[in-house]
Amino acid sequence: MKDTIVLYPSIGRGHIFSMVELGKLILTHNPSFSITILIPTPPNSTTIEATTFGCDSSITFHHIPIPQPPSGTAVSPLSLIFHLTRNGNHNLHHVLQSISKTSNLKAIVLDFLNYTANEVTTTLDIPTFYYYTSGAASLCVLLYSKIIKQRKTEDSCNYLEIPGFPRISKEELPSYPEELENIFRDISANMSDCDGIIINTFNAAEERSIKALQEGSCFPDESNPPPVFCIGPVISVPGGEKDENECLSWLESQPSQSVVLLSFGSLGRFSKTQLKEIAIGLERSEQRFLWVVRSESDEDSLEDLLPEGFLDRTKEKGMVVRNWAPQAKILSHDSVGGFVTHCGWNSVLEAFSEGVPMVTWPLYAEQNLNRVVLVKEMKVALALEESENGIVSATELGDRVKELMDSEKGKEIRERVLKMKVSGVEARSEGGSSYVAMNRLIQLWKEKDHLSVLSPNT
Ligand code: UDP
Repeated sequence: MKDTIVLYPSIGRGHIFSMVELGKLILTHNPSFSITILIPTPPNSTTIEATTFGCDSSITFHHIPIPQPPSGTAVSPLSLIFHLTRNGNHNLHHVLQSISKTSNLKAIVLDFLNYTANEVTTTLDIPTFYYYTSGAASLCVLLYSKIIKQRKTEDSCNYLEIPGFPRISKEELPSYPEELENIFRDISANMSDCDGIIINTFNAAEERSIKALQEGSCFPDESNPPPVFCIGPVISVPGGEKDENECLSWLESQPSQSVVLLSFGSLGRFSKTQLKEIAIGLERSEQRFLWVVRSESDEDSLEDLLPEGFLDRTKEKGMVVRNWAPQAKILSHDSVGGFVTHCGWNSVLEAFSEGVPMVTWPLYAEQNLNRVVLVKEMKVALALEESENGIVSATELGDRVKELMDSEKGKEIRERVLKMKVSGVEARSEGGSSYVAMNRLIQLWKEKDHLSVLSPNT
């Protein structure tokens, strides 16, 4: 029977693609493993074809049907994700049992958002690892459950002290609703008790945070942290997207490092008011731009969303793409010299890998934490400030874009991010920190023995 590693990503494109890349990476370090990827599939979701991932037959895909939870179960979209996963546990149990009958299941790697699957893997006694698709610094915050108390303490100290994370004020890290606080506490307890945590980051980028994780200071039980494997940067470059040729051929006609890309992940959407401010700011900045526009309603045309005449006036300098563009390929193009990003971790790693400096505009999830690290600790980005009404003004956007593309400070940021690019390549090369961590993980898996799944009681 073949030694098999099962990977279970969370729903969401960024999470699935990152996990698939992890699968490919495992195989480059140990081609004798077989990899099975379980794709959680809620009702009415579009199934992603295996060919999209560019994998060969050494990776097998299974869909795990996820029944819809009863309406009213979850309050926020994020908590809905946790409820969805738990709902898929019954199907997961079946699939894992059947995999165990035909292969030697060495370990399962869960996306941290799928932590409720731990109920199944514990019952089946399968060695359980977590894959954290974001950076080590935000993981320190997620794990450090004492923060919940710190936030609520009414004292004169307005700052939060979190091991492995820059000192920040309470306003910078607002409290979550109680429902999410409880979920995060559960995640922290689960991850603390697992067989290992794999993180898509590398030592040179997040040394301080990685040290805090390795020493255990952010875990609930500091004395007994699980092993941590920083194996990144793991980047996915899917092919064959719509608009690919148009964007890339437009970039061909632009001068080197002259274009700023504005792209906001798979979920980032803006109101008409905000889109108009961005457009005015871009025009005022006089910089070349490639802007992926996603609005609150897909019905609106670009002409409806943008200021009158904008597309015509900027056609020499800018390109506007509706909804989706091949971001990783765009960032790798020599004409791109800056990136206004929502700070999703995949986007950040793509920028690192191409040495592209950033302007940060966090929108959801842990992106605000990534912003703090990019701006304060790594100093590879400029921060955008929102006005009190939550809008980023045209002036602010235009000024930051200009500063990034055309100032001494922008130049310094570019130099730092170029160093990050080199360290990322070194980390993944033979003998580098991520390469060594991956080999350590493979060795650990080889030594794992898992037999109890076939017991009739499971
Ligand atoms: N992406 C893309 N085109 C787009 C928007 C996003 O190719 O128009 C890709 C991007 O390159 C990245 C992923 O989708 O690989 C988004 O992941 P990230 O972690 O940055 O953000 P999320 O979507 O998870 O918030």
